[in-house]
Amino acid sequence: MRRIVLGTLLLILAGCAATKQVERNEQILHKAEQLSQSAIIVDTHIDVPYRLRNKMEDITQYTKNGDKFSGEFDYPRAKQGGLNVPFMSIYVPAEHETQKIAKSTADDLMRMMDSIITAHPEKFARAGSPADVTAQFGKGLISFAYGMENGSPIEGDLKNLKYFYDRGIRYITLTHGKDNHIGDSSYDTTHTWKGLSPFGKEVVVEMNRLGIMVDISHVSDDTFWQVLALSKAPLIASHSSCRAYTPTFQRNMSDEMIKAMAAKGGVIQINFGSDFISDEYQKKDRDRRDSINAQLRPRNLTMRDSAGRVVAHEYEMHHPLAVVDVKDVAAHIDHVAKIAGIDHVGLGSDFDGVGDSLPTGLKDVSMYPNLIYELLALGYSDANIEKVCGKNLLRVWSTVEEVAHQLQRQ
Ligand SMILES: [Zn+2]
Repeated sequence: MRRIVLGTLLLILAGCAATKQVERNEQILHKAEQLSQSAIIVDTHIDVPYRLRNKMEDITQYTKNGDKFSGEFDYPRAKQGGLNVPFMSIYVPAEHETQKIAKSTADDLMRMMDSIITAHPEKFARAGSPADVTAQFGKGLISFAYGMENGSPIEGDLKNLKYFYDRGIRYITLTHGKDNHIGDSSYDTTHTWKGLSPFGKEVVVEMNRLGIMVDISHVSDDTFWQVLALSKAPLIASHSSCRAYTPTFQRNMSDEMIKAMAAKGGVIQINFGSDFISDEYQKKDRDRRDSINAQLRPRNLTMRDSAGRVVAHEYEMHHPLAVVDVKDVAAHIDHVAKIAGIDHVGLGSDFDGVGDSLPTGLKDVSMYPNLIYELLALGYSDANIEKVCGKNLLRVWSTVEEVAHQLQRQ
């Protein structure tokens, strides 16, 4: 708790020639901290599983690398920040589809997360429903819900949807960075299917029937519109932000898409990564990478070589990126609330997935109170903040369950 107070009392303002520190309103800060503990905070995208697959750490304790924190999630920091329901991303890289190891990768990640829950029942529990979330919140447990990022593990067999539902998967992000056998991705320019594949259409219908939330983060616009028309249940975007702030970035959602998804009851969970939040950051980041590569290429170096990293580091020192702040994330939330309504926005941080690009004041799971502070400062009521923190997502999840029950009765 201390860390939050000290960390947030002084807020470094971006854009000033000299670093300027502004004192925060202590009363609002106190209220933000209280709200973070009393509200159910659901974050629909945290990349802990893949982080632990790369380097195992004990997430029941502060995870550290020397005197610095390593990673953006651990139990003590989640408790500090009031995080109750991290959707653990069962992320499967796009290449695993052609390598035919997608399903086994997903299985490995879920097995690893299950074993953490089993070893620490006093801290964690798996949540398969909003009812589990509420019950476990009452017991002070952190609920791990599973969301699968990339539909490749379905491996062309609808039966695998039931298999993964039974294993605890409650949303599936249909694609990742490349077109897959389900549909087209926003990062791919191939337009393999011009939206959903024929099999992808069956996948959406079966997800509705089983009660798995359909996640349209990462899909192309064509895919989005086809999924929206087809799905009988509201959709989620588990970790996307507003294209209004990043006009050329197809990975974020346009106002038109956000409004249409909201009209069918869905929710966009805002991604905190700076390149999702700020066009200026994205441009500077791209320019910087291009310039560094232009210096490395003639010398036959890459960023993977230590000599290449020295060159890159030197360049980066003299070409800082735009500073993105927790206020800018609050602006995305406010934008959705204004164009689509307060019932249609939530949190999908992408912690442990977007590296050092996290905004000032929103660097890890201990810092949700800073975001709540900004919403309070914008005049949001407690009830509306609770919606953003988790109630909106839980409402969609409950509706997805109801739709599934209806479809199963037919
Ligand atoms: Zn992602």
